[in-house]
Amino acid sequence: MRRQYCNPAVFMLYQEPLMIVEGHQQYVFDETGRRYLDFFAGIVTLSCGHSHPKVVSRVRDQLETLQHTTTIYLHPNFPKFAKALAAKMPPGLDVTYFVNSGSEANELAITMARAFTGNTDIIALRNGYHGGTSGAMALTSHHTWKYNIESVPRIHHVVNPDPYRSPYQGTAEQIASRSAADIRELIKYSTPGKVAGFIAEPINGVGGVTQGALNYLGEAYDIVREHGGLCIADEVQTGFGRTGNHYWGFQNYGVVPDIVTMAKSIGNGLPCAAVTTRADIAKSLATRLHLNTFGGNPLSMAAGLAVLEVIEEEGLQANAKVMGARLKRGLTELMARHRLIGDVRGMGLMLGVELVEDRNTKAPAKSATAAVLEATKEMGLLVGKGGLDGNVLRIKPPLCITADDVDYALEVLDRALSLAERK
Ligand code: PMP
Repeated sequence: MRRQYCNPAVFMLYQEPLMIVEGHQQYVFDETGRRYLDFFAGIVTLSCGHSHPKVVSRVRDQLETLQHTTTIYLHPNFPKFAKALAAKMPPGLDVTYFVNSGSEANELAITMARAFTGNTDIIALRNGYHGGTSGAMALTSHHTWKYNIESVPRIHHVVNPDPYRSPYQGTAEQIASRSAADIRELIKYSTPGKVAGFIAEPINGVGGVTQGALNYLGEAYDIVREHGGLCIADEVQTGFGRTGNHYWGFQNYGVVPDIVTMAKSIGNGLPCAAVTTRADIAKSLATRLHLNTFGGNPLSMAAGLAVLEVIEEEGLQANAKVMGARLKRGLTELMARHRLIGDVRGMGLMLGVELVEDRNTKAPAKSATAAVLEATKEMGLLVGKGGLDGNVLRIKPPLCITADDVDYALEVLDRALSLAERK
């Protein structure tokens, strides 16, 4: 049925597709009732856990009262959620525009940056992913996600600061500085000398959990601002406490962006996304009519308000920090025993394990990664896959996991890696 009636571009993760019909917190169930520990959380979306009772009851109440009107009428949920998000941001970032997906949020962010600065060129990172609509696809820097059609012009990609596969030598900090310096070169050679903005994920999610040393964003932002540009943080994956130490990924770098884009965890599974910025920048959109039919709808706003409360009440950010550290420690121990592991990286519960055929050549172990994924599924654990070559295990569970879940996942990964190494 799916093959006949659904878009053929929709792909599935496993050789024998998995049907998931139910979810509770960190667990999902297939149609036979078999339970899986979900360490991918609907692609980094169910941060509060599947069917979280508070989120469900708030959404159900709202659905029974009023589903949709659009923002041309007043409804309290819309400004209430915008205010609640502002309270989570550094001072000054207090105006929010709601949309429905990360791609739309990033489209809007670059539109705002261009409208506000009067400049056109936008800089993004190689190995970044920002969505699949035309502007977002142009920002995305993976050939695998780009159709061979005319791209939105004046978008450029600079060197990624990830030390594992950097073209530069030196410490992670030196590599970050050299990578930031590439922005200056790019501006000099490929733009009129002024730019509209720079967009980066604090940790590249789809790209396989890569990031630069913590001096990167500060140095990058300085260069961009020197050339008239705004700095955009794509927090679609890194936001809402996932990195453990901070609520937002950018805070790990000690920077304050001009525009923050969010999606995924913001609605814990309901279609919701947002762009938060300063009032002066937001005004740039007020020069024309602009509306998003479902943006700010009462249901998504109710979900979002519940999400913020649950993260707070259940200490999910602190749990991400503690469980993330336990998991990363365990993964690093696995690296000592498994030659397939080339790198273990990430923060909090946004972790990546890069698999390579050989630690010196770093040749991507693509088929071994697929084999590990299959084996973990057989043992009741779901993890994700990423990286340009599909050779990175992406481990991004709901933030409510326990120490037992972590230990179980490590045992499963240990066995799955041994099986893949024997092949
Ligand atoms: N930005 C990042 C960092 C993402 O990971 C994604 C989705 N994987 C997007 C943007 C696009 O979000 P959406 O699929 O909701 O359009």
